[in-house]
Amino acid sequence: MTIYLHDTLQGEKIPFEPLQPGRVTMYLCGPTVYNYAHIGNARPAVVFDLLARVLRRRYKLTFARNITDVDDKINAASIETGKPIEAITERFIKAYNDDMGALGVNAPDVEPRATHHIDDMIRMIATLVENGYAYVAEGHVLFDVSAYGDYGKLSRRNLREMIAGARVEVAPYKRAAHDFVLWKPSTPELPGWESPWGRGRPGWHIECSAMSKKHLGRTIDIHAGGQDLVFPHHENELAQSTCAHDGEPFARYWLHNGFLSINDTKMSKSLGNVLLVHDLIKSVPGEVIRLALLSAHYRQPLDWSDETLESARRMLDRLYGAVRAIEIPKELRRSTQVPGDVVAALEDDLNTPKALAELFSLARELNRSEDLLQKQKLAASILAAGDLIGILQNDPEEWFSGEGAMLPEEIESLIDKRNAARAARDFGRADQIRDQLAASGISIEDGPDGTRWRRS
Ligand code: AMP
Ligand code: ZN
Repeated sequence: MTIYLHDTLQGEKIPFEPLQPGRVTMYLCGPTVYNYAHIGNARPAVVFDLLARVLRRRYKLTFARNITDVDDKINAASIETGKPIEAITERFIKAYNDDMGALGVNAPDVEPRATHHIDDMIRMIATLVENGYAYVAEGHVLFDVSAYGDYGKLSRRNLREMIAGARVEVAPYKRAAHDFVLWKPSTPELPGWESPWGRGRPGWHIECSAMSKKHLGRTIDIHAGGQDLVFPHHENELAQSTCAHDGEPFARYWLHNGFLSINDTKMSKSLGNVLLVHDLIKSVPGEVIRLALLSAHYRQPLDWSDETLESARRMLDRLYGAVRAIEIPKELRRSTQVPGDVVAALEDDLNTPKALAELFSLARELNRSEDLLQKQKLAASILAAGDLIGILQNDPEEWFSGEGAMLPEEIESLIDKRNAARAARDFGRADQIRDQLAASGISIEDGPDGTRWRRS
């Protein structure tokens, strides 16, 4: 079986073949650390963590996810709060790793920080200037997009059309509106480093080009990030790296996750609907959030609402409910592989909805089976798949009595719905709700005073 991945550059799903047999390099654009990560930022972290897990089954993977710790937004946060830049970046690097850890995201193999790679950036910029791809103007160094014939290839933009349609105010030091900054001057109070072009700081795009080269080499297998990074960030990375490396390919596969909206609205500070992972994990188990993020295919848009979380919680109730009370012999647990259908779905461009459907079909089979050994085998398969996906690793009893347990309000709302269904003589629906409650470890009893419930 071949792994298939959707490559943004080719615009289609293609067979995955790493540059070197047996080894894979992957780079994911990481956070800019001036604030807590929101649930949209968590999507690439979780999705590409799963891809890393899937790749590691077959290859020796080196996965780099950078930290952007020099950026104008960080400088602005420092001025606004009066706190030193390092205090801000250290705090939010730790918060990012803690929050993503709560969502079951494994640490990448390398987590390069931009400020530790300024020399690499300066070297790359100097090469671009020497080879005529960049020019120096008023303390800035700019990439000359007209020098790279393929500019616009990744985002399918035509440079001539872009120029004609440009509404951006052109800075006086730029030759053309789309030339982008590789290096810019810093005033004394801003972070800056000595360079051949004076004291200054790097542009954002060059950071990733320099860090991926340093840790993964000139040509990397997979470059990933959110869809919004295709243009200009990845287009610019592609141009810089290719030109700095005499035309050698930069990334063999470009992967982009779709955007997450909240109640069908774009998340934005001005609308006040920014949902921080840091806040959400105070009331919702990380496992529920992880599964909610993986419930849609990664390239599709994902709309986030209370229902997204509820449905992920119900899925976990069903899966934990199926494996609950089944003692799996240690040897069987150890020797059980991830079911082939689950692996096949994940290796098909990370088709998580299909992989989850396979998991539910195993759970149904388990619930129907009367044979203890078969039940044990199915439970072991479900847990092996859960281990790969990053869910189902808690003790089912803890799930039902502890943090994963259904809240009384949720139970009562379901009981109301069941009573309404019974009143409408929709007994199928009423039974379905009873089963759903039972799967969450809640038994109900109808009596003269109404319906009572208890945790079984
Ligand atoms: P930033 O810190 O803004 O550079 O974003 C970090 C990562 O989160 C990038 O890969 C973005 O593409 C991604 N991202 C930001 N907002 C969203 C969103 N609403 N949905 C999905 N991904 C997002
Ligand atoms: Zn990047």
